[in-house]
Amino acid sequence: MDLTRNAMYVDGRWTAPSSTDTIAVENPATEEVIATVPAGTPVDVDAAVRAARAAFDGWAATDPADRAAALDRLHRALTGRADEIARTVALELGAPLKVATRVQTGLPLTVLRSFVELAGQPPAAEIIGNSLVVREPVGVVGAITPWNYPLHQVMAKLAAALAAGCTVVLKPAELTPLVSYLLFDAVDEAGLPPGVVNLVAGTGQVAGEALAGHPDVDLVSFTGSTATGRRIAHLAADRVARVALELGGKSANLILDDADLATAVKVGVGNAFLNSGQTCTAWTRMLVHRDRYAEAVDLAAATAAGYRLGDPFDPATRLGPLVSAEQRDRVLAHVERGLADGGRLVTGGPGAARPDRGWFVAPTVLADVDPDSALAQEEIFGPVLAILPVDDDDHAVAVANNSRYGLAGAVWSGDQERALGVARRLRTGAVDINGAAFNPLAPFGGYRQSGFGRELGPHGLAEFQQLKAIQR
Ligand code: NAD
Repeated sequence: MDLTRNAMYVDGRWTAPSSTDTIAVENPATEEVIATVPAGTPVDVDAAVRAARAAFDGWAATDPADRAAALDRLHRALTGRADEIARTVALELGAPLKVATRVQTGLPLTVLRSFVELAGQPPAAEIIGNSLVVREPVGVVGAITPWNYPLHQVMAKLAAALAAGCTVVLKPAELTPLVSYLLFDAVDEAGLPPGVVNLVAGTGQVAGEALAGHPDVDLVSFTGSTATGRRIAHLAADRVARVALELGGKSANLILDDADLATAVKVGVGNAFLNSGQTCTAWTRMLVHRDRYAEAVDLAAATAAGYRLGDPFDPATRLGPLVSAEQRDRVLAHVERGLADGGRLVTGGPGAARPDRGWFVAPTVLADVDPDSALAQEEIFGPVLAILPVDDDDHAVAVANNSRYGLAGAVWSGDQERALGVARRLRTGAVDINGAAFNPLAPFGGYRQSGFGRELGPHGLAEFQQLKAIQR
């Protein structure tokens, strides 16, 4: 299977890139280069933004039912590629095929379906006194996305923006661009009007900077690291363009003393290690009441040790590699530092067995982690769980909120009201009680340095709209 691509998608067709430079895409499980994609330049970005601008008035004025129908055609075209998408994500990211199928492919299809519905049912204009308050699409959107959920993060932006009547230029992550090419094969098949959605592959430093800084982009919607989010906000500030930032996290999993400990620990470890821990909402700090702490550490160690590392295409594999050598080295350095800072290695760690080839890190659990240490404060983005003892609910809330991030979190308790009271005190954009199901319509986004703006559902759609008050 040759996965190499040599075009951009601009103005409704595959177009030649402005430069012959390419980016190599690697399979992190084998360390082999599996494809190349073009390295876009500011010239490519400009052509794509011009196409999006030219398409904007027509798409914004399109009847919502017709926009919904176009998104529905895209859903059908993508569904037809579901197996290919899952295999491609397993190849370029290293996600185990089961995760690549259920989460990396299933979730974006669910999200797209939700925006088919939302696109077709726009809320009625509001009447406030003598004003008619209407919602209008914000304009041309620049979408810049990371590699860890390479289709989901694209879909959360693209489907919402298109449903709202915006046009889009996408710059996907350079480590995992191949799945975006499959998405644009589906865009092409679905026959979306030319210019409504455009793809420019490239690096963050070149294509990403050009898109975030382009004078004709009205909103930059970014998911990625806090450092890059800060840079993008600076670039957009120069022209007072809107920005939505979905950034890092260091979420806490609060296991109260009346929780079902076995379930809370098992689900908590699974959450922390999903996608090899490369998940911004991962519950990477497990906070356990002192009375049940030793038991929780043992349970976590046993659960983690059961996670089998290996070939993403082997059905027995629970953990694939990390996305790159750089990411693997970064994660191992975090663990070394965590140990030097007094953390106790319970399982895994830099010395643990792992496959000879591929950027693998063994599932790692550290206990007795100091809440102020780097391991408890920095986003690690690998299969590394820190367990911390807490004295009571107040102490658990204080430790959980001792973070510059505020993306997600969890509370486990036998008493729903108690759990709800604790959930309300967490300074984060989301909290799950007792392992409650993910809701694709709930607003998703962060407090503090986890960013601002919300994705998914009606609130995610509103991010791509602005309000106009017409007085009568
Ligand atoms: P990153 O910030 O390096 O890259 C994200 C995207 O930004 C990529 O497409 C990259 O090419 C682009 N980029 C990089 N530098 C740029 C620049 N100067 N100007 C414009 N674009 C630029 O992040 P990453 O390494 O791809 O992803 C991992 C990080 O993303 C983690 O910190 C993780 O927590 C965060 N993340 C957050 C969420 C969320 O929803 N909050 C989701 C996934 C990942």
